[in-house]
Amino acid sequence: MPKYIPEPFRIKVVEPITKTTREEREQIIKAAGYNVFNIPSEKVYIDLLTDSGTGAMSDNQWAGMQLGDESYAHCRNWFHFEETIRRITGLKHVIPTHQGRVAENLLFSTVLEKNMVVPNNNHFDTTRANILANGGIPLDLVIDEGKDPDLLHPFKGNLNIDKLEDTIQKYGKNKIPLTMITITNNSGGGQPVSMENIRQARAVCDRHGIPLFFDACRFAENAYFIKTREKGYENKAIPDIVREMFSYVDGCTMSAKKDALVNIGGFIAVNDERLAEQIKEKLILIEGFLTYGGLAGRDLEAIARGLIEVQKEDYLAYRIGQAKYLGDLLAEKGVPCLKPIGGHAVYVNARKFLDHIPQREFPGQSLVVNLYLHSGIRAVEIGSYMFAHKDPKTGEVNYPDMDLVRLALPRRVYTGGHLDYVADSLGELYAARKTLHGMRITEKGESPLRHFVARLEFIK
Ligand SMILES: *Cc1c(COP(=O)(O)O)cnc(C)c1O
Repeated sequence: MPKYIPEPFRIKVVEPITKTTREEREQIIKAAGYNVFNIPSEKVYIDLLTDSGTGAMSDNQWAGMQLGDESYAHCRNWFHFEETIRRITGLKHVIPTHQGRVAENLLFSTVLEKNMVVPNNNHFDTTRANILANGGIPLDLVIDEGKDPDLLHPFKGNLNIDKLEDTIQKYGKNKIPLTMITITNNSGGGQPVSMENIRQARAVCDRHGIPLFFDACRFAENAYFIKTREKGYENKAIPDIVREMFSYVDGCTMSAKKDALVNIGGFIAVNDERLAEQIKEKLILIEGFLTYGGLAGRDLEAIARGLIEVQKEDYLAYRIGQAKYLGDLLAEKGVPCLKPIGGHAVYVNARKFLDHIPQREFPGQSLVVNLYLHSGIRAVEIGSYMFAHKDPKTGEVNYPDMDLVRLALPRRVYTGGHLDYVADSLGELYAARKTLHGMRITEKGESPLRHFVARLEFIK
């Protein structure tokens, strides 16, 4: 029996959720065009669409919200926010934004010139889009182990250091305004990056005079993996590991909707004063004054408190434990998943799960829709439906390496009982997998972000 690490909190406020009937769900999903983004959230029983902004705040954070100072400039909460981020990261200049992608937009619109390249382990979709929108070229340089869904490796998010060196040789340092590392590697399955790898990336960047940045969304989850998997860190405290991680970078972008345990917010932190000044000028134009950046005073307070709470070891053991527990339950039932289980989500290998459905009929989306129909659970497809687009020149469709279904775990929201239900539902579907059908797109298949807007139907 997989082991469940009990929640290191008790429940003080509850939000009812209700289960619909199969007949109701058939109506709802049909009206939604078989696109789960169109389902009203009240018609979802367990919502594993994303871990972004979906977490539960603590009593301490809610108490902080009551202490929001809503003065326009230099409110009390700004000082707490700035001081907390400086202390955690050691970075000098802190710039608040209303979410992570704005931090990316401000950074890349400032440092990028046409045809510059930005290496990363794997760029997250909004990071990639912001680099492309500013004329840059995003490069994914994750280690080869990180591309194999069945291979076990403790740090599958690591950057390929040889490829980084080759990239710098090929393009030259003047074409590379910065190198990024995403911790944990969201697009690669929430896989962590080792301290050794961060140190090696730093050494390469130093040799060539290139700044190194984190996409820091899940910095605390990454630190917990370092503590539990990397030699020499077993007895170190999480805040010390975090501080060491950040000691190797010149800056970071952050979505507070992840490891700051809040529902909205973000920031940029950098050491370079000139870069900070350039970004701040744009901030005033786009987000707001330097000390609030699109957020209310109370939001800044909740973020400051969340950034401290997220580094508590009992929280992280429970958090990472939840994903592992769900993954272990699914493995017992034979459901194929990406291995090892990442920090914030379990990724089901839909291509294997539905190996009778060809990629062009979207096995991942079929699994997502069938999971909702079967049990009211909302997951998300990351595969052919999201990524397989026609090459505008050749007319050929480029299919992605993997067809995955992501079960993302909101922070501090669902209990072990909910996870048991999710595992049982997927187990039942797995037993009935040969009866499931492929899908076709009926509307908006040409949209570049079609997974948000397209409509589909089953092929029967
Ligand atoms: C969520 C996320 C972002 C974007 O942040 P938003 O707050 O959603 O704009 C960027 N990078 C990674 C790795 C993320 O997970």
